[in-house]
Amino acid sequence: MKALIQRLTDLADQNAPAAAMLREVPTALMPWLKDAAWLPPAVIAPHPEHYQQYLLYADPKARFSVVSFVWGPGQQTPIHDHCTWGVVGQLHGIEVSTNYARAADGSLTVTGVHTLRPGEVIGFSPEQGDIHQVRNGSETVSISIHIYGSDIGRAARHKYDPVTGAVETFISGYSPAPIPTWS
Ligand code: FE
Repeated sequence: MKALIQRLTDLADQNAPAAAMLREVPTALMPWLKDAAWLPPAVIAPHPEHYQQYLLYADPKARFSVVSFVWGPGQQTPIHDHCTWGVVGQLHGIEVSTNYARAADGSLTVTGVHTLRPGEVIGFSPEQGDIHQVRNGSETVSISIHIYGSDIGRAARHKYDPVTGAVETFISGYSPAPIPTWS
């Protein structure tokens, strides 16, 4: 994990643009998707009622963050965006992303459904369209590692109401757990 943080820091120090991050970060993340043994139990614990997002590392300058997402069966996010690039790698279980395009009148259209299985990585950016809803696609606990181009839990972004088309600014926060120290 220290090597991954160093790689992300180096890329951020080089002011790598989003397109470069989407090329480089999946390669850096891949070795960490073999199993969850490197993660402390507190940051892979599901909650009975809703999904969890545990901060694993936030860049001191808020240029990126690494987060574990943990989903119990049937749990899902609201429809949301990120206002920055993101890379997701699957560790355990299955994560399903339903992607949307938003028309000028606020209406949302499904543009695709993507299934992420253990060992797989996907990237996205606002330029490509990053409005989606994510859910656990398995009957077991799903665990994935998300890397974003901001301190995502503290950044303002948007939730979308599929019925009314309303957009709401929100800050997701992080689930309560000690931030691990990586050595
Ligand atoms: Fe998302």
